[in-house]
Amino acid sequence: MKLLQERIQRDGTVKEGNVLKVDSFLNHQMDVKLFAKMGEEWKRLFAGQDINKILTIEASGIGIACVAASCFDVDVVFAKKSQSLNIDGDVYSTKVESFTHQRVYDVIVSKKFLGKDDRVLIIDDFLANGCAVLGLIDLVESAGAALVGVGIAVEKGFQSGGRLIRERGIHLESLAIVDEMNCETGEIKFREQ
Ligand code: 5GP
Repeated sequence: MKLLQERIQRDGTVKEGNVLKVDSFLNHQMDVKLFAKMGEEWKRLFAGQDINKILTIEASGIGIACVAASCFDVDVVFAKKSQSLNIDGDVYSTKVESFTHQRVYDVIVSKKFLGKDDRVLIIDDFLANGCAVLGLIDLVESAGAALVGVGIAVEKGFQSGGRLIRERGIHLESLAIVDEMNCETGEIKFREQ
């Protein structure tokens, strides 16, 4: 998506440790008009697919997923990072290693909000090593729901997440794929899409 690439090129900064900072428009301050255009692009890319729910993970996926959910006219559910283990059995849970915080979280979704009648599109801001998305896929499978696909704003193509998800035959649509970035020069190179 040209518009997103141009915005990353203009306002994104490359940090050490393969981190792309886009907090002026994507995941701290949020440009919701850009989000609406991203939502419309996912709607085009997943056209004809039966989707009745969007699933994301807190916190930075929520804004994008909400606007996308409005484009798809469906509800959005976000997986919560939980401090305490739930013993009532009323949640699906999985473990996710955070790329940015380098720790493992228990991540939960209430059984009330994800079930076998759901046809789910997963949305997140970044795809790096794939832990967040694979955790969300695990929750969809635990619920017996159908996974229709995964929509990502920024995939870092030099990390393994995209390959892991495509290898599983999952329909993955990343709106921008960064193939190279350099924290010394600030250069960011995108894959032709
Ligand atoms: P993964 O689980 O695929 O390794 O990483 C994805 C998660 O880590 C995303 O939900 C996102 O919040 C965070 N993340 C990964 N890479 C980056 C990055 O380069 N910049 C930012 N801002 N967040 C990232």
